[in-house]
Amino acid sequence: MAAESFIYQDNKISGLNLRDTLNNKTYTVHCKTTINATGVFVDKVMNKDTPHHESLVSPSQGIHIVIHKKFYMSQHAMLIPKTTDGRVLFAVPWHDQVIIGTTDSKTDLILEEPVATKEEINFVIENFNSYMTHHLTLHDIQSVYAGLRPLVKKKNITSTADLVRDHTIVVSDSGLVTITGGKWTTYRKMARDVVNRAIRTSSLHYERSQTKSLHLIIKTNEDTTNQSVIIHPDFPYTTSDVHFAIDEEMACTLEDILARRVRLLFLDAKAAMKVAPDVCKILQTRFNHSDEWYKSELETFYLTAKKYLPENIV
Ligand SMILES: Cc1cc2nc3c(=O)[nH]c(=O)nc-3n(C[C@H](O)[C@H](O)[C@H](O)COP(=O)(O)OP(=O)(O)OC[C@H]3O[C@@H](n4cnc5c(N)ncnc54)[C@H](O)[C@@H]3O)c2cc1C
Repeated sequence: MAAESFIYQDNKISGLNLRDTLNNKTYTVHCKTTINATGVFVDKVMNKDTPHHESLVSPSQGIHIVIHKKFYMSQHAMLIPKTTDGRVLFAVPWHDQVIIGTTDSKTDLILEEPVATKEEINFVIENFNSYMTHHLTLHDIQSVYAGLRPLVKKKNITSTADLVRDHTIVVSDSGLVTITGGKWTTYRKMARDVVNRAIRTSSLHYERSQTKSLHLIIKTNEDTTNQSVIIHPDFPYTTSDVHFAIDEEMACTLEDILARRVRLLFLDAKAAMKVAPDVCKILQTRFNHSDEWYKSELETFYLTAKKYLPENIV
């Protein structure tokens, strides 16, 4: 659901116009407070409220590559503390494959689907190879993907390593509460701090945050029907996992399932593309979608998945 524009009352934000990106339906919601927690997009959202405001974020791009475990015969993670340009690099066994990353380079390009560059991939391969007997090539990479870190801007610095990795909260004159920076691992502290700030700047009732002592509950799929089928011979994922993703994890699209529920796209992009038609059929049946939807969903997924193949990177 994308926040597209703000609604005001007495110069204060009193609601939002939203668009459901799955079906393009639009909605209007009214609210007592609004938190802008959109990562590298916080400046874009703030611009909708205060055009030409001073930007908060200096994005940096990082990439990961995934290879078969036969190229890294260890159960243990490895950290290379000093690569050719002084950054760190690690290799970690992950879902029976090995993930290697990450780079960190300043970028001005803020895309919804950032793409790794050849330069970044070669950097990872070269530094990994200098510690390995088997030398990786582009063809050994099963999947490559990029992400953008929202680093908070500080004046007069040149290296991304010097940018603030703590989070920052800014309250605009309109009452918009913006949070950015921080780390994935500090998300609870970020959430507590921003909710407390939002309470303070609005008429919401205050209650002490309980996040510090709350346990995470992870529900996993335990198929008892014995009717599920493996979707790809090299991976343990089954049709039951696909139904579980739809029923319990709010998956609506092929990318939801293959990238962010069973993670096949991140582990092996070609395998994900191979199983896509069958998984798309399950989605079509479950949601009663048309044949046109099936065709367009599959095409959209292939376009995304191709960006995870190193041979398509320029
Ligand atoms: C390669 C890489 C490696 C990293 N490694 C680590 C690590 O090892 N440990 C660690 O702690 N952190 C790590 N990070 C950092 C971590 O991923 C980020 O700090 C974290 O994801 C930021 O969270 P966020 O919620 O602020 O932003 P995001 O995770 O970027 O989420 C912002 C969300 O806002 C949505 N959005 C944008 N615009 C709108 C709009 N108009 N309306 C509605 N929604 C919108 C986006 O779709 C997105 O879902 C890494 C980052 C990268 C890129």
